[in-house]
Amino acid sequence: MVGVLALQGDFAAHEAALVRAGANTRLVRNADELGDVGGLVIPGGESTTMLKLLHYGGMMDALRRFSETKPIFGTCAGAILLAEKVCNPSQESLGAMAISVERNAYGRQNESRICSLVPEEEFIRRTGAEKVEAVFIRAPVIRKVGQGGRVLVAYNGDPVLVEQGMHLAATFHPELTDDVSVQRLFLGKL
Ligand code: GLN
Repeated sequence: MVGVLALQGDFAAHEAALVRAGANTRLVRNADELGDVGGLVIPGGESTTMLKLLHYGGMMDALRRFSETKPIFGTCAGAILLAEKVCNPSQESLGAMAISVERNAYGRQNESRICSLVPEEEFIRRTGAEKVEAVFIRAPVIRKVGQGGRVLVAYNGDPVLVEQGMHLAATFHPELTDDVSVQRLFLGKL
């Protein structure tokens, strides 16, 4: 069973994509519901709002503990929450992955874009997918990948899909395209 954090953002699109990828899903809105799932997707949205709601619901500590033993896939705002360091401006995060991210680094909404990317060999080997359609919406840029991190897809030299052990972070939105290779890669970690 894979959970989708459903406090804010495009959790419904994530749940639909996970179902297309063959997963059993449940929406997670509190710490109790977190206990029922073997992995979690943190969707895109607005990381500042998600942080407020996580604190408001007393979920921040539960989520930190969850990240120590169970896989999390963060997309866009979710990747920002997984990072160990966030800038532009700096804000709190879970520190589950050794990545540094700069929020809104591509610019404003009209700098949002869809790109067809050729993934790294490792991604192709494991998923069979030779291209990735990447939707960027006010996306962050991963400025640094620390020890244990592996870049699976890059765009213009910047990592856009990074794996670190059981966790996965994407600065784009794989839930908004038909291809579910990235979701299948994550589900393989559960
Ligand atoms: N700009 C948003 C943030 O900083 C992320 C945008 C997204 O998730 N599509 O949280």
